[in-house]
Amino acid sequence: MSKQQHAPGELELVREFVNTADIEAGEDRLADRAGLTTWLVEHGLAAADVRVSSGDLRRAVDLREALRAVLLSHNGGEPAPGGAYEELDAAACRARIRLRFNDRLEASLESEAGGVDGALGRLLTIVQASIAQGTWPRLKACREHNCEWAFYDHTKNRSGAWCNMGVCGNRAKARAYRERHAGAHGSERHVGAHGSERHVGAHGSERRR
Ligand SMILES: [Zn+2]
Repeated sequence: MSKQQHAPGELELVREFVNTADIEAGEDRLADRAGLTTWLVEHGLAAADVRVSSGDLRRAVDLREALRAVLLSHNGGEPAPGGAYEELDAAACRARIRLRFNDRLEASLESEAGGVDGALGRLLTIVQASIAQGTWPRLKACREHNCEWAFYDHTKNRSGAWCNMGVCGNRAKARAYRERHAGAHGSERHVGAHGSERHVGAHGSERRR
């Protein structure tokens, strides 16, 4: 995977959370409770003895997909479906996020809830900090429908549309080319579509670490 996709600081945790599902490869690290437990522990969001219920798992996956919907909206301009923000709001509520002050004149948002609710709340406090810092609109989901991989747009003018220009970007360009020429050369369309399918394997291996 290209380093250029990485988000700065803790925002990378949110990007990795969204990418627990690899849509194109059909893989999901949150496919079961054990998968969610492992991911949370590996990323320092929960203790090894955290209890994960099936409700926790469902809510984690729902939050992930709501975040993906928001990241897709960052990549095209149209607003995210209303339900996405309701999902974030509900997760923040369950996490009982509160403003905490300390004697070093600092204030931060923290989850009062423990367990999975608290861990998901921690991700949302990172989102809030990113919004405050102005970096949030740069975290996007790839515009290719069968990809939707989360990436951080490092371009100067925030114009990045694909997780990987060399793969998803070229694929979209090739499709646009085929569509432009489909009217005049209808027979070429099938050949082109077949060619792009062969590219799928290369994509999967290229974007991984
Ligand atoms: Zn992509």
